[in-house]
Amino acid sequence: MNDSIRAQFPILHQIVNGKPLIYLDNAATSQKPLAVINAIKDYYEQYNSNIHRGAHHLAQLATEKYENARTAVAQHINASEREINFVRGTTEAINLVATSYGRKFINAGDEIIVSEMEHHSNIVPWQMLCEEKGATLRVIPINDAGEIIFEDYLKLLSEKTKIVSIAYISNALGSIHPVKEVISEAHKVGAVVFIDGAQALPHKKVDVKDLDCDFLGFSGHKVFAGTGIGILYGKEKLLEAMNPYMGGGEMIKSVSFAGTTYNDLPYKFEAGTPHIEGGISLGAAINYINEIGLDKIAAYEDELLAYVTEKFLEVDGLRIVGTAKNKASVISFLINDIHPYDLGVLLNEQGIAIRTGHHCCQPLMDRLKIEGTCRASFAFYNTKEEIDATVYALKRAAKILS
Ligand SMILES: *Cc1c(COP(=O)(O)O)cnc(C)c1O
Repeated sequence: MNDSIRAQFPILHQIVNGKPLIYLDNAATSQKPLAVINAIKDYYEQYNSNIHRGAHHLAQLATEKYENARTAVAQHINASEREINFVRGTTEAINLVATSYGRKFINAGDEIIVSEMEHHSNIVPWQMLCEEKGATLRVIPINDAGEIIFEDYLKLLSEKTKIVSIAYISNALGSIHPVKEVISEAHKVGAVVFIDGAQALPHKKVDVKDLDCDFLGFSGHKVFAGTGIGILYGKEKLLEAMNPYMGGGEMIKSVSFAGTTYNDLPYKFEAGTPHIEGGISLGAAINYINEIGLDKIAAYEDELLAYVTEKFLEVDGLRIVGTAKNKASVISFLINDIHPYDLGVLLNEQGIAIRTGHHCCQPLMDRLKIEGTCRASFAFYNTKEEIDATVYALKRAAKILS
């Protein structure tokens, strides 16, 4: 990718600790292009207003832009607008399904399956549901490379399985899971499948019809939009069957003390004034990545991943944690027995932003018998020159710390 793309991201052009910023923490949150920043600015400068039911010009404009964003998301993942619910992010999408679907359809003795390498957001809501209902959480084990063991998954499936919830791409190791196969096997026993798409949407094309997933959640801030906005996709007939998540304005058709009727999809799950500029920013971000082209983005990131894998292994004592055959541009690593945090601090002194720790995946770290890793995660605005500079900084830091 070229300078014209980097020029779209003002934040990248700054000096940190005397060095040009190298931002390699994209799996935690991505940076925002001018298209997104300007969409938010325009909203507040030109048409800030509460949406829906407004008779006046600003309200109509805000409603139109917000609903256009929903349409952009729907088209992007091949869903209908009725299936696109604005939520706060992946975490809220999972909690919404665990609550609204789980409370209604999960009973004592039922089983819910997750993998050993899920983000805490894709573990804890299911644990809470299991506790409430007397259901059991089952866990798909992983191998040392960081891949789910598919045969073991098949053994866990039974008529007791009601929900399978798994990430498309692991935030900690970058492993891409065979979600299409996971979904079709779950359907054979009548279970529904939630796909945690938080790391998938920034890197690849996701088509909910092709996957045939029942639910998909993702976060705006990881896909170049603002924070506090995200999407829950659900198949229409499942969303119809669920009870609302929260009660309030917008999600009702009529309210009386004799009883309240709920609004139609997708408003049924959108109680209260929504994150209007967040939704608009997400629409802008989706349009922006589609202008570049996800195929182009994926091909470029594959190139970066191959390059960084090769270059990092030139660092003495460096081992890559997570060597799945199928990986996204996320690389976890350790150098000898140096504490990840110490490496992170020394890299920061060179203007390089990586993340260190358990990456919200403590059960995975337990499985790997480590406390945490250093993680460098890449977006399409990162460059090979940045990788070279990082390798140089890692070599220096390792020398100081060993
Ligand atoms: C970031 C992330 C989450 C949580 O997303 P929030 O935006 O914090 O709600 C869940 N799962 C994965 C795989 C993630 O990367």
